[in-house]
Amino acid sequence: MKVPVDALRTARESARRRLAEVEVQLAQLRDARGAESADDEHDPEGGTLSAEWSRIEGVRVGVVAELEGIDAAFDRVSAGTYGICEVCANPIPEGRLEVRPTATRCVRCAERRQ
Ligand SMILES: [Zn+2]
Repeated sequence: MKVPVDALRTARESARRRLAEVEVQLAQLRDARGAESADDEHDPEGGTLSAEWSRIEGVRVGVVAELEGIDAAFDRVSAGTYGICEVCANPIPEGRLEVRPTATRCVRCAERRQ
């Protein structure tokens, strides 16, 4: 089993960079909210900022999940179970792992799930 370690590392660096970016955006938004009004509930601009907050927070949650998937993939590498389908225990094709290094299921099992 050839582990696409470079692809995993690249994915982790990319996800960490994006996480740092959204955290900066959230911090800026927090400052903007605080500066405009101490009371968000009665702030007429609060709605717009809240919507923006929800959007960026949604992105953050997605990136965190992505990082967890990457960490889990590294755990499977250590455990020697990387590249084995978690459903049918057959090997996941290397081509699929190159494209989706965090894949936990073979193509057939992944498609069945959808
Ligand atoms: Zn499978």
